[in-house]
Parts: sequence; structure tokens; C-alpha cells
Amino acid sequence: MRVFRFLAALAANRLGGVPRPSWCTYLVTMRCNARCRMCDSWRLPRKKEMSPDDVHRVFAALGRLEVVRLSGGEPFLRDDLSAVARAIEEASRPLVLHITTNGSFPEATEAFAATFPRPRALRFLVSLDGLPEEHDANRGEAVSFAQAEDTVRRLARLGQRQGFRVSVNHTVISERSLADAAALQARFAAMGVEVATVLAYAESATYSLGAQAGRNSPPHPSSGYPLHPELARADVVTLIQGEVRRTQLTGDALLKVGKTYYLRGLLPRLRGDPVPSFRPRCVALRSHLRVLPDGSVPVCQFNGTLIGNVTITSPRELWQSPAAAAGRRWVEACPGCWAECEVIPNAIYTADILRTLPVFLAFARSSHRLGKF
Ligand code: SF4
Ligand code: SF4
Repeated sequence: MRVFRFLAALAANRLGGVPRPSWCTYLVTMRCNARCRMCDSWRLPRKKEMSPDDVHRVFAALGRLEVVRLSGGEPFLRDDLSAVARAIEEASRPLVLHITTNGSFPEATEAFAATFPRPRALRFLVSLDGLPEEHDANRGEAVSFAQAEDTVRRLARLGQRQGFRVSVNHTVISERSLADAAALQARFAAMGVEVATVLAYAESATYSLGAQAGRNSPPHPSSGYPLHPELARADVVTLIQGEVRRTQLTGDALLKVGKTYYLRGLLPRLRGDPVPSFRPRCVALRSHLRVLPDGSVPVCQFNGTLIGNVTITSPRELWQSPAAAAGRRWVEACPGCWAECEVIPNAIYTADILRTLPVFLAFARSSHRLGKF
């Protein structure tokens, strides 16, 4: 059944139709205890947050989903995060429940994972900005490298028993952060934890005060990669070329395919190619639904125009509304951003990810030879 739904969504996205959402990015709170230089989440005005009952009602109306990503702000600032996650599990039973965290609540995160009813669905991503000195200088007093490392260690240990995975997201925010990349990877490799590398973006409507202020129909982002100003002189091309090679050694097949796709599309953008080679059709407001803490629905990460609120209007009605249609027109005119959290659903729900099929087949063959696939 899921396979048929997936194929139907894929066909609709490729032909310009409107499938129901399959992938939901839900920002459970915009509050954050970190004070990162490259993100204004902690400065944004406080908004109402859906209660676990609201969440159950909304996700029951959405029905089955394949991927739900819980993000923020810092999700573990919510005391009721377990209740929120259980509500989603009961109502939508996603194949993957993905949680991004700054890792500042090691005990709460471990308790969350230990008590979640279907741990195999869980994936954790703990964000770091570099080795302790750079990380701590960026994140503020309440969020430290030591806490995040403790969180990763606890999750890696528990995950081995319960069958879920934790990985580290290294956001390269400066030249110093870039220089930390290899040592950071080695440090977590010792725990059996993969480190994925991303480059800090200049700004996005979701996480930037400047981009949020008073823009109802913002300009489209450029088709390149608007690097954070602190990376202006950093040799990011060499870093990403190295990441493409390193990804081939990754043991996790899905991570390998997704990361390969993303990095291969990133390189031409960093080099300033006017027509980058990987350009999947965007599935924002099609297969991909974003929900803000209070239930409101923006067009995408780079266009904060709200098309409505799922606590007030049923998701089905909202999806068919004139506001959603207007949002889709903006999406269709977009030259395409390269933010990973948008690119991966775009690549999957248009099947553009199959361009990395040779990588996947090579991995399957070598793993089969080794008897572990
Ligand atoms: S980047 Fe993450 S941890 Fe840092 S302020 Fe933004 S939401 Fe918080
Ligand atoms: S590609 Fe999609 S997610 Fe990215 S800015 Fe354009 S419309 Fe938004």
C-alpha cells in the first residue's frame, strides 16, 4: 500500500499534480537555549505551541506519513516531547521519525529514546559546529560540546541495543570550523558514529529575523549556494570534494545515497555553475509539508508566507485552498535552493535520487561479496 502511495506521489510530482503530503517537517518549538551566530531561532518572537492533543488531531487528519522530522529551535526544551512524538506515532505511524537536536539534554534525550514504543523508526541528528573550542564559542553558555558528545555517546550505546541510528551534523560555520572537520570525524568514528558535513547558509526565512521581517512574497533564493559570510574566504570546494570521496566509505546505504546526491549537486553550485547539474523539481506544498510550532504552514524554508493553520483548517482543505495554489506557483517559479533538508525530499519524491543508482549498486555488490547486505 505504501509502495503504491509512494509511486502515485512520485508520478503526481513529476507531472505537476498535487499529491497528499508524505514527508512532514514539524518545528515543535522555535525556542532555543543556544545562541548561535548563524541562526536567529532564539531571537524570534514566542509563538503558541501545539499541545500533544492538537498534534494527535492534526496528524490523524494527515493520515499515514513516511517521514516526520521533528526540529526546532531545540525540541528537547519541550517537556512534553515524548507525548508529542507518541501522538505522531499513533496517528501517522511514520517509517522514520527523525529528531534534530543540539544535544544539550543528554538524560532527557536518552530517556526519550528508551521509552519510545517503536525505537527502530527513530533517527537522531546531533548538531555540532566543530571541536570544543569553536563549538562552545558559537553556541553560548547553555549548550556545550561536552553535553552534545555525551548525548551522542548515550544514543550510540542505546541505539545498538534498540536498533536506531544517531549521526552528527557538522555545520561548517567558519574557517576554524572547517579546519576541525577531519578531527571531528575521527573523534566520532571511534564511537561508530558518522559525521555529515553541511555548509552554513547565509539566511533562510525560517531562521533569520531579517528574512522574516515584513516580506509576504519574498524573492526567490539564487540557484547557487549563498554561503554564510564567515565562509567567504574558506576553501569549501576542496572540503566538499573530500566529502564526496569520504561518503563512498560510509557503511549506511541510505545515508550514502542521500549524501552522495546532495554533495554532487552542491559542488557545481559552489563553483558558480549557472545551470547546476542536479535540479530536482521542488515538492514543497506537494509531498513535503512544513508545520510551525503553532500549526501554521509556510510555503517552504525560504518563503515564510503562511498558507493557513492546520489547527484551524483541516489539512485536506488547506492543501486545496487558493493560498496553497498561490504558494505552489511561487515554488514552481523557484530556481531551486540547495538546503539539504529541502533537497532530500525533492530528490526522493521526484525519483531524481536514482541518478545515484550506480553508487548504490556498487555498494550493494561490494556488501554482497562481503556477505553483509
Ligand atoms: S542553529 Fe540550532 S541550536 Fe543554534 S540557535 Fe539555531 S536552532 Fe538553536
Ligand atoms: S527549491 Fe523549494 S524549498 Fe527551496 S527555496 Fe525554492 S521553493 Fe523553497
